[in-house]
Amino acid sequence: MIVILKQGITPQEKDKVRSFLSEKGFIVKEIVGQQDTVLGAVGKVSIDPRTVELMPGVSSVVPISKPYKLASREMKKEDTIVQVGKVKIGGNRVCVIAGPCAVESYDQVMTIAESVREAGAVMLRGGAFKPRTSPYAFQGLGEEGLKILRKAGDAFDMPITSEVVSPGDVGMMAEYVDMFQIGARNMQNFELLKEVGKTGMPVLLKRGLAATIEEWLMAAEYLMASGTDQVVLCERGIRTFEKATRNTLDCSAIPVVQKLTHLPVIGDPSHATGIRDMVAPMSLAIIASGASGVIVEVHNCPEKAFSDGPQSLYPSQFKKLVHDIQALCPVVGKSLEKIPRVLPESMKSKEEESVAPSNGVVVAFQGVRGAFSELAARRSFDEDAVMLACHSFADAFDAVSSGKAKYAVMPVENTLGGTVYDNLDLLAMHPELTVVGEQQVRVMHNLIVVPGAKMEDIKKVYSHPQGLQQCRAFLDKEMPDVERVPFFDTAGAVEYIARMNDKSIAAIAGAPAAHYYGMEILRQGIETDASNYTRFYILAREENAALFRSQSKPDKAAISFSVSDEPGALMDVLRTIADKGVNMTKLESRPIPGKPWEYLFFVELQLPEDLKVFEALSEEIQKKAVSFRVLGIYTSVIR
Ligand code: PEP
Ligand code: MN
Repeated sequence: MIVILKQGITPQEKDKVRSFLSEKGFIVKEIVGQQDTVLGAVGKVSIDPRTVELMPGVSSVVPISKPYKLASREMKKEDTIVQVGKVKIGGNRVCVIAGPCAVESYDQVMTIAESVREAGAVMLRGGAFKPRTSPYAFQGLGEEGLKILRKAGDAFDMPITSEVVSPGDVGMMAEYVDMFQIGARNMQNFELLKEVGKTGMPVLLKRGLAATIEEWLMAAEYLMASGTDQVVLCERGIRTFEKATRNTLDCSAIPVVQKLTHLPVIGDPSHATGIRDMVAPMSLAIIASGASGVIVEVHNCPEKAFSDGPQSLYPSQFKKLVHDIQALCPVVGKSLEKIPRVLPESMKSKEEESVAPSNGVVVAFQGVRGAFSELAARRSFDEDAVMLACHSFADAFDAVSSGKAKYAVMPVENTLGGTVYDNLDLLAMHPELTVVGEQQVRVMHNLIVVPGAKMEDIKKVYSHPQGLQQCRAFLDKEMPDVERVPFFDTAGAVEYIARMNDKSIAAIAGAPAAHYYGMEILRQGIETDASNYTRFYILAREENAALFRSQSKPDKAAISFSVSDEPGALMDVLRTIADKGVNMTKLESRPIPGKPWEYLFFVELQLPEDLKVFEALSEEIQKKAVSFRVLGIYTSVIR
């Protein structure tokens, strides 16, 4: 059952409820949610819920209707984020785990680890104990294999996961792995589940070959009841009558499971299909289905692989796949998880001052709560980041400048509306700020109403002029007689209809705004052009920039410069960029305030592999230009 606590419950009252339940024989877990704090009580015993309901500090008691309790959404509404070393799985992240089917040799694992890490994998997989169909097939290198995997994980700064097949190996394996893997064949090996659960460590739980979703979740329940709350589910294909693929990938299980449980779910396209060419499309299908990641088999020489060669990707195929997954991320409202690069010694002390983006850091954005900018900011930082809503773009810049916020996430370009000039101008006025990152959000508009309102109730629709414009085809067709009222902000329009509580007015805005203000989405995705993306810069003061940049390898630079008023001056600078072989991805010009008919040029560049090339280029531009500034170097969202 779930014991919902009153907001003002005292620690003593909470202790009393806890001990009462424990004494009755329940396992008690406290779950702090965004709205409520609850105590989940599970066990073989049963008591009259009213005895708990009457205790001081208790708001209500709700029974859990599902046979799995700790794993159920009823118990915990928010997504669980599983932490494996530095990597987080779940929430708005997409994690790519990769590696060979089996650990074969030191050289093999090191080679594969290097290539998958470089391509964007955040975790390394590799079997040391292989549960093979035939007793004559390669069974794995055992502990020796784990040692190799550990070395590769450490060398390339990736947490590792490997399959455990026997309860007796759990203690030994815990010394090596960061996350246990329970294989499909062992999903209902309850003694194994109990032993692994006891370690409290993260577990990747594959779905059994013929397991129903409920059986799968009951297996997760075994792990959780034994002591771990760090469970990641993995759909890896089930047995059906179909023989064209090794198994049948059950993509629909992904959204189903996400409704039933708070645990993250990922997919394994390699074992699901058994065929190399199908791994990439099915990986995309898995991500499109809403999964939190994929686990993919990659081999440097699949023809010679000891196991599962035909389904293992070549490193080059894997690299392309990660690019494609990254391109898909904004469509499903997620970001590709990256791991911080190894910090140079000189930066380590800064990390200890906990300026890491994960430590309740304050992030400024423009707009009211629920704005697309907030979504971009949330996607760029961990769940515990504190969002600071600023009235104007200038206020958001000032917030970072004054130290009130450590970062700001500012829109710079929309695929339909073009450049957001105000923010380039503000960046020019704030030399103390620098671009440390980039984020991208798909702008998906919805018709949002007061709960219970129907299409026929609506007389007026409020939104930012861009929102109204981008949904014109829908409005013309479905609501031709409804008055369109321009508003300063899309999320602001939702806040307004919520405040008015009037069924005759609707708003057009993103889904987060509807959720934030408790409003209802009447129609989803009503924008005319679905390829509607906004790109944001993440800004920081120089002293806070290094750590954010250390999260991943920068591959883009933004610069600004002005040139003298003479023939060929701009051309001269652009030629320098071309001569250095550097690719320019964007060019804008803006008038310089106080200097009529003079312009500041903004350029985005692909950062050369060798940073010295960029430094030399900067020096040369500096010589040729009247003014020059590196606005920032950062990692692009689309590589
Ligand atoms: C594996 O991941 O190596 C494996 C054997 O997978 P499954 O248990 O899903 O068959
Ligand atoms: Mn395999």
